[in-house]
Amino acid sequence: MNRQRLINDLKQGFMLKRIRAQEKAENNIKKLCENPEFNKLYTKYSKTKLDYLKSTYETENLMLKHDIEDLKTEIDNLLKKLGVDKQTLTPQYECLKCNDTGIVGGRICECLNHALNKKISTMTSTQTDFKSFEQSDENLLDETDKKAYEILKAWCKKYPDTTKTNINVIGGVGSGKTFMLECVAKEMLRQNCFVCYKTAFDINELARLYHIGKSYEFSDCINADILIIDDLGTEPILKNVTKEYLYNLINTRQINKKPTFISTNLSLDNILDRYDERIFSRLANKNLSINISLTSSDKRVK
Ligand SMILES: [Zn+2]
Repeated sequence: MNRQRLINDLKQGFMLKRIRAQEKAENNIKKLCENPEFNKLYTKYSKTKLDYLKSTYETENLMLKHDIEDLKTEIDNLLKKLGVDKQTLTPQYECLKCNDTGIVGGRICECLNHALNKKISTMTSTQTDFKSFEQSDENLLDETDKKAYEILKAWCKKYPDTTKTNINVIGGVGSGKTFMLECVAKEMLRQNCFVCYKTAFDINELARLYHIGKSYEFSDCINADILIIDDLGTEPILKNVTKEYLYNLINTRQINKKPTFISTNLSLDNILDRYDERIFSRLANKNLSINISLTSSDKRVK
């Protein structure tokens, strides 16, 4: 994974952060507008500001500029009366140097540099922990396992000229599905890809934190070259989070032609029951998916 690409991916995460901060401020304003007094003042302020901006194209209208200042003072006073913190109405960025753009004066801001170093260190630390294809013991594998390994190895070799972007490895406890996906992770890291390997439980938690604006690490799952979701189906279903974020994650990655590997105990039918039709249809799409079944009663590769 080259540095520039890492920076670009991080910048996308930063953009999400900015959007969140802006949305939060806008929502606070919207809520305040339920107060008629504020609504009236704020509407007048917005209109005057717009008129002033228009005037600057020709001759700057200083009277409007003066009006804006007066309205600002009036709004400030009203906010004080209502006990509202003025700051909640403007986007609160985490980094005051770059307003979460990651760039200051055309150069990388400290905060982006810090995120970059953190990312590089986590990528290299996980790299050594994964099992590799060379470590799989041929003697312990049955025909289905061997075929599964062949498919996965061939896929890795073909990347990025691969048409199948969803690879689902279905099998029970002890079927070796996690081992297989670790081999994929290791191989793709060797190819310098940005690999994001997470359990479904972790992804669910990241989605929850993202949903409440506490962490933006979830964007790594969206942006990674290769996403590996281990043990789908073991995570709790959180209202408004689990199904929604999983669908968006899988769908966005499919649109961007970014491969997602999933290991799961669930059959495709179980996936339909547990999640919903949209998720099922993305994962079961024959044109885009490879389904490898390792369950002892139903060992087959489709
Ligand atoms: Zn910054």
